[in-house]
Amino acid sequence: MRSRVTPGSGRPRTKAASKPPLQQTHYNNHMTTRKIIIVGSGPAGYTAAIYAARANLAPLMFTGLQYGGQLMLTTLVENYPGFVEGVQGPELMETMQKQAAHFGTEMNNEDVTAVDFSRRPFVVTADKQTFEAQTVVIATGATAKLLGLPGESKLMGRGISTCATCDGFFFKDQNIMVVGGGDSALEEALYLSRLGRHVDVVHRRDPLRASKIMQDRALKNPKIEFILDTVVEDVLGADAGKVTGVRLKNVKTGAQQEKAVDGLFVAIGHEPNTKIFRGQVELLPNGYVKVKPGSTETSVPGVFAAGDVQDFTYRQAVTAAATGCMAALEAERYLEATEAR
Ligand code: NAP
Repeated sequence: MRSRVTPGSGRPRTKAASKPPLQQTHYNNHMTTRKIIIVGSGPAGYTAAIYAARANLAPLMFTGLQYGGQLMLTTLVENYPGFVEGVQGPELMETMQKQAAHFGTEMNNEDVTAVDFSRRPFVVTADKQTFEAQTVVIATGATAKLLGLPGESKLMGRGISTCATCDGFFFKDQNIMVVGGGDSALEEALYLSRLGRHVDVVHRRDPLRASKIMQDRALKNPKIEFILDTVVEDVLGADAGKVTGVRLKNVKTGAQQEKAVDGLFVAIGHEPNTKIFRGQVELLPNGYVKVKPGSTETSVPGVFAAGDVQDFTYRQAVTAAATGCMAALEAERYLEATEAR
């Protein structure tokens, strides 16, 4: 089973690092300093690459080993403008990649492991190689959160998943549980209802957080049932090597019950992928990259952030693409201004 979660990724620290004085250091990388490096390859990264490439900035993009971001884990995307009947998420990302490459973006499929924004040019490390750039666009997106239960890590990929479209197939005609009360949880539940025998949605509160349209769809679905004011206390089946059930607790009455399920889908939101940027740019208390209002500028001049790594409000493909565009335009202006000095 595939999972969209990176196990072991810790919660981001919240404090911005104190900035050491700028130093001019040249790293041993056999490459010339790039005008722009883009880290991450979701809609934000690809859009930044398309704009930067068309502005003759010859971008180098680190796509990461799992390129394409969260849309690679979805099926039909119906709200990206320009597609009357919708478009498959992976197809949309492949098209964006081809468009970015068509205009001359150089792709490197390594994961970036470190950055140094205290020096000029900036330094980006991937696969033990270092690369220099005058500007950097951070577009590393966000990753699904986990419940942090004792049985969860043992059974991840053995009945627990964070991606219905990746793993729903394994639960055909079985009993499935989805945890969460937002749009993602209901989207997962609706998708899984087409495959499973029955889908329970467990949410820690009443009411749900999801949008009205998603609630209406889920409430109308005869295969979906809601268990509200309830939390999952543990996942059962560690001895069997696969999920066999869950222990639930009603948070109002304190009543506990065990419920047999074959699959557990965790859909409780996301964490920004900012681990490698801690201490390099200022982060918000929730771990997202702090940008200036109405801009993609970070606390470090010349470093820009676009997409879900800085957006915990809208989190849409189209808003990520929009901020990717802004980041490339702002990087271009920054380069013009610094070159003119
Ligand atoms: P979300 O809106 O933040 O919802 C997360 C849900 O998980 C909330 O109901 C929350 O409960 C619950 N939760 C969080 N931590 C939990 C924990 N430790 N234990 C149990 N429950 C927990 O996240 P999302 O659903 O991923 O949506 C994110 C954004 O993407 C939203 O803006 C959403 O509208 C958008 N989105 C849109 C669509 C669509 O339009 N088709 C699809 C997916 C996502 P509380 O409510 O009690 O906080």
